[in-house]
Amino acid sequence: TPHDLDGDVALVTGASSGIGRATAKTLADAGAAVAVTARRTERIETLAEEIESEGGEALPITADVTETDDVERMIEQTREELGGLDILVNNAGVMLLAPVIRADLEDLQQMLDVNLMGLMAATRMALPGMLEQDSGHIVNVSSVAGRRANETSGGYSATKFGVNAFSESLRKETADSGVRVTVIEPGAVDTELGQHIPDEQVMERMAEMVQDMTVLQPEDIASAIRYAVTQPPRVSVNELLVRPTDQQ
Ligand code: NDP
Repeated sequence: TPHDLDGDVALVTGASSGIGRATAKTLADAGAAVAVTARRTERIETLAEEIESEGGEALPITADVTETDDVERMIEQTREELGGLDILVNNAGVMLLAPVIRADLEDLQQMLDVNLMGLMAATRMALPGMLEQDSGHIVNVSSVAGRRANETSGGYSATKFGVNAFSESLRKETADSGVRVTVIEPGAVDTELGQHIPDEQVMERMAEMVQDMTVLQPEDIASAIRYAVTQPPRVSVNELLVRPTDQQ
């Protein structure tokens, strides 16, 4: 049914663009009240207005997932203002690709802080409430790069392998509690992610690779997330790997 998330509250990180933005809209469309979080306030405010104008409920919360206080506040504010937290989508991420020899230590640190530590912190802070209510869903956006490492993606892959490991461990810990954990592993998706690649050569090579492909749209990944979070309580979709059909 179109409104199978009626009464649920979701929080999506990295909702200011790309996959997060599409996921927030899709979950709102499915009936969830959605907290939309990211650093770019204007973007999430516009998104919240858009969701509300389409009859949904949305709450914009400015938060940097690398700041523990922000992570704590975004979860508390969601609970207070939307009345709970049933679905946490850890989507915020950066992909600062470079070969190791040219990698900037600050870029490696930023990927760890956003993609891995931010995700672990949000999960840590959302979990007690979910365990208390014997239900909840944590959706962690990993990547094809979370399953295999390629040249120039060492630092990025390290964070996404970390996401997969953390998620599988959490899944085992929460299996008896009614809390579900899903890992989403997108292939190439048309978003802003590649625009921040610091290494010119890598940026060019990625652009060429993507040109020869019919890449996914953010909505395609949002659909996969919707599928995972709308299954009956007995069904735990552990992992979804979604590539463009013509991606090698
Ligand atoms: P975008 O660049 O379009 O979106 C990334 C989002 O993360 C933005 O909303 C950005 O918001 C947010 N973000 C970045 N840093 C922070 C931070 N410090 N605190 C809070 N939010 C932050 O890319 P995508 O939509 O593609 O990326 C979403 C996820 O999908 C990422 O985890 C990425 O690794 C993953 N992915 C993407 C693929 C692709 O091909 N596009 C393939 C596989 C995985 P703001 O800057 O406003 O804070």
